[in-house]
Amino acid sequence: MVNFEATRAFAQSMDAADPLREYREQFHMPMQRNGLSCIYLCGNSLGLQPKLAAQYVHEELEDWANLGVEGHLHARRPWLPYHRFATGNLAALTGSEDREVVAMNTLTVNLHMMMTTFYRPQGKRRKIVIESTAFPSDRFAVMSQLRLHGHDPDDALIEWVPDETSNELRIEDLQAILDREGDEIALLLLPGVQYYSGQVLPMRELCAMARATGCRIGLDLAHAIGNIALELHAWGPDFAAWCTYKYLNSGPGAVGGAFVHARHLDADGTQQLLGWWGHIEKTRFKMGPTFTPAPGADLWQLSNPPILSLAPVIASLSIFAKAGMDRLREKSILLTGFMDFLLQNDFAGRIESITPAAARGCQLSLVVLDKTLDARGIFETLHAQNVITDWREPNVIRVAPVPLYNSFEDVFDFTERLHKAIRA
Ligand SMILES: *Cc1c(COP(=O)(O)O)cnc(C)c1O
Repeated sequence: MVNFEATRAFAQSMDAADPLREYREQFHMPMQRNGLSCIYLCGNSLGLQPKLAAQYVHEELEDWANLGVEGHLHARRPWLPYHRFATGNLAALTGSEDREVVAMNTLTVNLHMMMTTFYRPQGKRRKIVIESTAFPSDRFAVMSQLRLHGHDPDDALIEWVPDETSNELRIEDLQAILDREGDEIALLLLPGVQYYSGQVLPMRELCAMARATGCRIGLDLAHAIGNIALELHAWGPDFAAWCTYKYLNSGPGAVGGAFVHARHLDADGTQQLLGWWGHIEKTRFKMGPTFTPAPGADLWQLSNPPILSLAPVIASLSIFAKAGMDRLREKSILLTGFMDFLLQNDFAGRIESITPAAARGCQLSLVVLDKTLDARGIFETLHAQNVITDWREPNVIRVAPVPLYNSFEDVFDFTERLHKAIRA
């Protein structure tokens, strides 16, 4: 246990002792504004650019220029098996076997790809459970899957509602849903980390509950990957999907990823959408009419991947591999703990985190309790002081100190500028 102190000197001493401090230099920090350095606390929404990203993209442009079509086989990272340069590091970050993960598409597309295989309503077992505060894209994806199978979302979409006072999703409430209508539920689609509240869900327990109910479970890891430790293979969801532009720092709209549990990897390709990139590599270019399934999660690929938006993913994952998720998490607990300490020390009763202290990753979701203060105004005044956070309707300011590039002094500066924003 570290005894936090509310001083700049303390923050600086934490930075001096931080084994990951040199990583900050490997990222582009956004520009100064009005003479103020940027305090970037928005890595939960769009991670900063690793300097290595430009090098990787440039190398692909150069190989394309010099080799043309021959780059498929002869680029320094050949494009034909290009997605596999991401595989090992994605498997490490998600606690999976290499064959269970694949970098492809974007998150919502992958949710659809996975639901095409794993949402197979039969008889009365047709319903899908999401949380009532689900990210809109996940909700829309689920609504459309239900409709495509001839079901009405008003009947077949079940919502797990967070507790009204604490905002927490409570396991007892989900268990009550499963007890009540478990034999009508085909799929649970739930987040690893809830995007609005920052709550980390007990994924191992959720997977066990789904198994006991006889339904499938998929995890949306948008806010979990690169943030907290994951053990997908051991926890045993049927599938998972994620984007890479949040904590994984791979750039706007970068290529996402998906996980299919090993128990489903004897698939023959008849229960999913198909494209030529799911055909085994060896005979893909024979261009025959017969489909031969690629091994592992690679089978779910459709197209040849966008190399230029997969390059930054591969660059960024190499940084995670060096820093190590264990060390990142260790620092993250201290960074977010320091921020929580300063907020309680300076702003108790006025501004509070609704993120459960016992179940959180990098992010704190702040609500303004003091009715004399204008929450939206505070967010905007922070922004004017070059503090980058994000606003989520109706009244939450999300802040996420990120262990790869944020410092303890950033956290201290944030609270200083928050004082100024409140006075303004
Ligand atoms: C960020 C996020 C998305 C975004 O989906 P894209 O397909 O990448 O645009 C979807 N769902 C959740 C839970 C998210 O946090």
